[in-house]
Order: sequence, then structure tokens, then C-alpha cells
Amino acid sequence: MAPRRKKIYEGKAKVLYEGPEPGTLVQYFKDDATAFNAQKKDVIEGKGVLNNRLSEFFMTGLTNVGVPNHFIKRLNMREQLIRQVEIVPLEVIVRNFAAGSMAKRLGMEEGTPLPRPIVEYSYKNDDLGDPLVPEEYIIAFGWATQQDLDDIVALALRVNDFLAGIFYGVGIKLVDFKIEIGRVWDGDFMRLIVADEISPDSCRLWDVKTGQKLDKDVFRRDLGNLADAYTEVARRLGVLPTNNTTNIKPTLIN
Ligand code: UDP
Repeated sequence: MAPRRKKIYEGKAKVLYEGPEPGTLVQYFKDDATAFNAQKKDVIEGKGVLNNRLSEFFMTGLTNVGVPNHFIKRLNMREQLIRQVEIVPLEVIVRNFAAGSMAKRLGMEEGTPLPRPIVEYSYKNDDLGDPLVPEEYIIAFGWATQQDLDDIVALALRVNDFLAGIFYGVGIKLVDFKIEIGRVWDGDFMRLIVADEISPDSCRLWDVKTGQKLDKDVFRRDLGNLADAYTEVARRLGVLPTNNTTNIKPTLIN
């Protein structure tokens, strides 16, 4: 049995525990899948293990190309050590092709290429269903400053270029994705870094040739087995843990 740890926060897909040192947290990936602001829920066996590995893979890659992020190291099948940050209350969405809420709002066909990557923000608030907000609101309400937003756009576009290239290399089109940003302090000096997770839960990923969806839309739209789709992404990226990820029972870990 692992020692009892203090739970800091429990979200829909992850739990955060106090870390071994000040300024660190342990991020635990659950198998729970939710969509439409948690109106649709299920447990997808193996999803947490896959997302832990995939987020490790992307965050490590970002570190290697110089994009600061919260990842320190993976601890086990479902947990990773991360830097504690103060989360900016925004979902930062980057879009390369129209899909989801944008396609609906503007009456665009899903998959329409955008003239350039578009960065947009939702205010993180489950009671309100994470409403889309303009920069004006963000600055006026003090969620972030103009300087923060400039830094956030720069980070988001670097993440986009990195991820789009990695995915294209394995025959996957990065349609859009969401990241979250955290503040860390070095003394009085504040920096913004990529936080939360990067996984098929928060990206739209389509097979380049067939258009097959390999992301959470498989669950949202009942298109098949979600764990199979995530396993395919992990397999193409060469990030599969042991041979059979979907047989890993949460109770066996820790
Ligand atoms: N997204 C996310 N969490 C959210 C909302 C969106 O990870 O709470 C991701 C979603 O998976 C997609 C992108 O952000 O890759 C854009 O989502 P969109 O605004 O189209 O919303 P959706 O259609 O998912 O409601």
C-alpha cells in the first residue's frame, strides 16, 4: 500500500495529490471519461494509463524543444510528478481546422482548413459550461494581463507547431486541442508554463488518409471503443507501455 497522501484536487479525469517536495504535486490519471460538461460519463479501462504515457511523451518533447511545462517525471503507470502551478482559469484552444463548437457556431463544415491557427479562450467554470470569452473579458476581470495573453499565445502556437509536426509524422492530422497554463514564481519573477495534460482527451486527431477519429470524439459521438483509438495513437507514436494496456486494473497500481 502506498502511504496515505493528501488529496489536493479531484477533477473529472485526474486527481492531484501533495507531492514529495514543496512545489511539486503527483498527478494521477483516472479511467473516467466525461463529455458535454459531465452529462455523459463512463469508465474506459486503460485510458488513464495511456494518457499518463502520452502526456509524458508530449511534455518531455516540449521540454526538449524548449517549451516550459509542468512535467518532472513519470512515477508509475498512472502517476506523474509535476510542478505545482497556479492555474490560469482559461482553456486555451488552438484550432487548425474547423470542428466541434467552432464549426457549429459558424456553420462551417468540420475539417475546413483555417487560414491560420486560431487561438481562443474559454473561461474555466463547469457551472457555466466553460463559456467562450474574448480577451477583453480576460483582461477586464483580471484572469490574465495583456502581457500574459501575449505569452500564452506564443506558448500555444509553439505547442501547436510541435504537436502538429509529431502527429503528421505518424499520419495523424491535429485538428484542434486545448491546453491549460500555469503560473510559477522564481522569487518575485512570474513565468507561465504549460500545465494540466496533453492527450487525446484534449485534442482532435484524425487519421490523415481515412479521416478516422482517434480522440475523445469517439466517446462523445459513440463512434467505437475509445481505448482502442488511444492505443492506436500511442502505438503509432511508439509510446505503448507493456503489451496489453487495457488489462491494467486500477486496483493493481500503487
Ligand atoms: N476541449 C477540451 N476540454 C474542454 C473543451 C474542449 O479538452 O472542456 C478540447 C476538445 O477536445 C477539442 C478542442 O478543445 O480538441 C476544441 O473543442 P471545442 O471548443 O470544439 O468544444 P467541443 O466541441 O469539444 O465541445
